[in-house]
Amino acid sequence: MNKVEAALKMKCPRCHEGDIFETKNPFVLGKMTAMHKNCPECNLKYEKEVGFFYGAMYVSYAFNIAFFVITTVAYYVYFETRVDWRIYIWTYLLITFILFPVFYRLSRSLWLQFFNDYKPLSKEISSSESHG
Ligand SMILES: [Zn+2]
Repeated sequence: MNKVEAALKMKCPRCHEGDIFETKNPFVLGKMTAMHKNCPECNLKYEKEVGFFYGAMYVSYAFNIAFFVITTVAYYVYFETRVDWRIYIWTYLLITFILFPVFYRLSRSLWLQFFNDYKPLSKEISSSESHG
């Protein structure tokens, strides 16, 4: 698993095994932002210092701009002649609203990856891991 894959799977940036968030599903109400304080596997402290995750807002901002650009280009290329721009804007806002938890988590996960190096846990038996 590389850093990008670990970020997408919301895994600990150091061991790539422990989860960052308490629930895997970002859409569980009330648990959307619930993070482990430390990695359940290697005990890495996620919030290095108070305010560490403020920087993740820039990542989130970048995601939103990228998403806006992609959807707008897609709109002009595929739907402009068939769909009113106002419908496009409202649909865009709705999708952004729905995806907010995903972007929120992804930006924090990526932010953690920026500031932590991969150090695999040493295990006695490195058996072939099963999928799933
Ligand atoms: Zn870990």
